[in-house]
Amino acid sequence: MLIKNTCLVNESFQVERGKYILIENDRISYIGDKHPEGYFGETYNGENKVVLPGFFNNHCHVPMTLLRGYGEGLPLHRWLAEKMFPFEAKLTGEDIYWGSLLGIAEMIKSGVVSFTDMYFEIEMMAQAVSESGIKVNLSHGLSYNSKKPSIFELQGYKDTERLLDIASRDKTGRLKIDIGLHAEYTSRESLVREVAHYARERNLIVHTHLSETQGEHDNCKLKYGKTPAEYFAECGLFDQPTTAAHCVWVEDSDIEIIKSKGVVPVHCPSSNMKLGSGFAPIKQMIEAGIPVTIGTDGASSNNNLNMVEEIYLAAMINKGSTQDPEFMYPAQLLKLATINGARAQDREDCGSIKVGNKADLVIFDMDKPHLQPVFDELANILYSGQSDDICMTMIDGQIVYKDGEFKTIDIEKVMHKAVGIKERILSELV
Ligand SMILES: [Zn+2]
Repeated sequence: MLIKNTCLVNESFQVERGKYILIENDRISYIGDKHPEGYFGETYNGENKVVLPGFFNNHCHVPMTLLRGYGEGLPLHRWLAEKMFPFEAKLTGEDIYWGSLLGIAEMIKSGVVSFTDMYFEIEMMAQAVSESGIKVNLSHGLSYNSKKPSIFELQGYKDTERLLDIASRDKTGRLKIDIGLHAEYTSRESLVREVAHYARERNLIVHTHLSETQGEHDNCKLKYGKTPAEYFAECGLFDQPTTAAHCVWVEDSDIEIIKSKGVVPVHCPSSNMKLGSGFAPIKQMIEAGIPVTIGTDGASSNNNLNMVEEIYLAAMINKGSTQDPEFMYPAQLLKLATINGARAQDREDCGSIKVGNKADLVIFDMDKPHLQPVFDELANILYSGQSDDICMTMIDGQIVYKDGEFKTIDIEKVMHKAVGIKERILSELV
């Protein structure tokens, strides 16, 4: 497919106008000012459109879309114990499949081309990913179980091994498997060390939650005399590349550990505000040279998977909380949601619009009242754009969403299934 006469964000994250982009198979094969010679295939008129690199949502629990709005207003521990855990215990593999498709549809509609996820029944999630065309770094979040103290006894370990085998046969490269460790407060030192050892043996990216709440951070210091980051580093967990969600309560010494160990923090502004967790020191981490990424977290703590909104909030709350209007300028902000996310997922040929890269594109229609007039296309999109301005999402050269239509997901069926699952589980919980 050829996109003609369009505005694009180039690999240096600068806006260029009047460009042609040629997509052949799953990659970008040409970018230039002229119509490529000898091309007579499908052409898309890019006038009044802006082509951005697709977004990376680096922290999610996608099947939790099924729990959206359940147990609102409760404090965290009551919300988990009285609402989340009993509902989740009723979820079947098939439920997880439909919940994944629902969340993936929502992400695709807001320009997400790849996400990093931690949940369970990951084989069913992988099936939803495969059918939808999106990319994922998938992990089963391991927690300590006193009846099964060794990692090798845990279902999550068995699932990870099975999925690593499936991913090794996936020729598209869209499915990658990470190792998930849920958090410091749901594990024991023996399990953390086993996960660290396993990650090294299998050369896996680690996905975990880090210093999300003050209580969790302070309790860890009481228990071990160390912050969660110090504790994880000493257990060897950060010897492998690590994706660490939240990092709200990290201290100065933790930021040094994160930097020196190459840990990638995921900023989840909606979730942190909704659950009253606080504000992560994003500016301090970025100024230390840490490649921060952005995540929506699950839909039960956000309450949506709208990446356009998440990017907007990341800009606004960090400008506001640091009293620095120059921070999170458009190109800097977009890098967090694209190239930084791709690097965190170990996807070297993704995250920017350049010849040879995977064709992961999101196209914004600028013909909207809130996007006119245009002084700076990128500033308009990131500070004023809505996910409904997206007229196309392309992943690996495949159009998965165009002009309000999902090309790979039967959205009516998925929504109908989601309602049925909710009603069934509520009736079982009575
Ligand atoms: Zn999370």
